[in-house]
Amino acid sequence: MSDLRAAAEKARACAHAPYSNFHVGVAIQTQDGQRFSGANMENASYPEGWCAETSALAHMQMASPGARLAQVYVLGQGEGILTPCGGCRQRLAEFGDADTQVICANLAGDEQMFTLGQLLPAAFDLDPS
Ligand code: ZN
Repeated sequence: MSDLRAAAEKARACAHAPYSNFHVGVAIQTQDGQRFSGANMENASYPEGWCAETSALAHMQMASPGARLAQVYVLGQGEGILTPCGGCRQRLAEFGDADTQVICANLAGDEQMFTLGQLLPAAFDLDPS
């Protein structure tokens, strides 16, 4: 088991998902080797909940402003692998690039690796430079 998967499993155990009972854990590694993780956080007001990717990105930015993504591990339950939702693909693009690796996995150990460019081609980018 990879260290990143282990971190995603640990994060998944912290999910707050009493409404869907769908627990998700995400672990990220930055380009300079730091690791952060997050879990989904549901809310009684359903639209106010947020995804595990969002939690992980918030942890990263708070601890290491300006960090950039190298690899993301997304762990969900169910028979198929879990890929990030559309909103999270855009959030990941904010801190990553087309070559950022996104490993999508399930509890059975199935994994599939995508690049962020594959998951979100032609990402919205204001290009502030
Ligand atoms: Zn999402």
